[in-house]
Formats: sequence, structure tokens, C-alpha cells
Amino acid sequence: MIVIKSAEEIELMAKACEVTANMLDELPGIIKPGMTTKDIDHWCEQYILKHDMKPAFKGYGGFPATACVSVNEEVVHGIPSKKRVLREGDIVSVDLGTVYRDYYSDAARTYPVGKISETHERLIKTAEAAFFAGLKQCVPGNRIGDISHAVQVCAEEQGFSVIRDYTGHGVGRDLHEDPPVPNYGKPHHGPRLTPGMVLAIEPMIAVGDWEVDVLMNNWTAVMVDGSYAAHYENTVVITEGEPRILTLKGAKPEAVLERS
Ligand code: MG
Repeated sequence: MIVIKSAEEIELMAKACEVTANMLDELPGIIKPGMTTKDIDHWCEQYILKHDMKPAFKGYGGFPATACVSVNEEVVHGIPSKKRVLREGDIVSVDLGTVYRDYYSDAARTYPVGKISETHERLIKTAEAAFFAGLKQCVPGNRIGDISHAVQVCAEEQGFSVIRDYTGHGVGRDLHEDPPVPNYGKPHHGPRLTPGMVLAIEPMIAVGDWEVDVLMNNWTAVMVDGSYAAHYENTVVITEGEPRILTLKGAKPEAVLERS
């Protein structure tokens, strides 16, 4: 069942999302070679607690940390560790959310660690561009498949693959609500977009093949072929007109697309 949110509910979500957006904006100044994935998690947790909110992921389905921190061939659900040291040339995906008065936020970015390869720079930019391609479809009357298809086309045009095993989703009083928002699919298929729907749209793309495996920790999803993966996610509200991105401040979609 797809839950349509009231204006009041959306404002509560916007509060949760603002803190998440601010963290994701500050992380490029924090992430450096030599730090561990646990250091990133600790910084995020302190940030959320300082703002009197709760980490959305900690304990969710038994996840042991505040942020999912996934390095290189890890695509999502990386468990932060004191042993995982970031090195120059790595790429690191940080996926996290907050809870404010029972309402969730959810967003992710992939960051370079120092200087990275041109391919991986393009991978990161394409994940972002794919989100904005999907966002353009976020108007009432369109369907989920229109978002999915636009994301897929954008990623595949750049020669990257789209992960099938994980999807975007509705978000609200639960972290994961209906409907699923796959990053591949057919136009004009799936549930119709309606004002008041709130969706976490989250392209996950890889340099190589799209097949993933889950590590023995039962969480971390890795690319089977070892190629690097990138993730870009925002919490988005469907409105009567233009979609509203709750976890991004200031950036105009056009500006982002021009860079890619
Ligand atoms: Mg999500």
C-alpha cells in the first residue's frame, strides 16, 4: 500500500531530511585517505545526535551502524569498520538517514578519496545524473516505470550497468515503504505518481556487470566482477507541479546535468 503524506507530515520529513542533506554536504571536507569507515560512521552518528534526531539505520533489520559505508566494489550496506582504511584512489559511498518525530529521511552519495581515476569520476557523476534523469519523470500522472527507465537509460548510455538486486522505495513513517522504485524498467508501467507520495530514488550503478553478491556478514553487497560501484540517493516528494527534493539544498538539476 502506498501511503500519501499530508503537508504536515512532509514538513516533519523535511526537518529530518535537512540534517541528512547537511551531513552529506559536509562529508567531502571530512573524508581523507588514512581514515577508517568507522571514523565516517562515528562522525555521522555524533552529527545526528547533536541535532536531537535518531539514526535511521542503526538497528534497522539488525544493521549495526548509523551509516552504510561501502568502498569501491561494495555497492551498498557496507558495515563501518575500524579495520577498513580508506586509501587514495578509493571511492566511498555513504548512505544514511535520520528520524525526526517518527519520520524518516534517506539519502546517499559516493565520494572520491583523494585523486581517483577518470572512469570512477564519470561513474560518480553518472549516478548523480541518473537520479536527475529519473527526477524529471517525477510528475503526477507518470508512473514508477518512467523513473526506472530514465535512470537505466542514463546509466547505460555511459556504458555503466544498473544494479537489479536493490531498489529505491517509498519513505515516510517507515524507512522502506511501497512502492519499490527499481533503477531499470519500462516506461508507462507500475504505480501512477500522485501528489503526496514520497520516494527514495537511488541509482546504484557499476563499471562492469550488474551481478552482486552478499558478503558473509549478511549485509555488504559487492560486485561479483570486482568493478567499482556508485550510489546517489535523495528523498523526493511528488507535488502537483515540480518534484521537491528534501535531501538536497541549493543545487539545480540542470546545473548538475551540465557537469556530467
Ligand atoms: Mg534508500
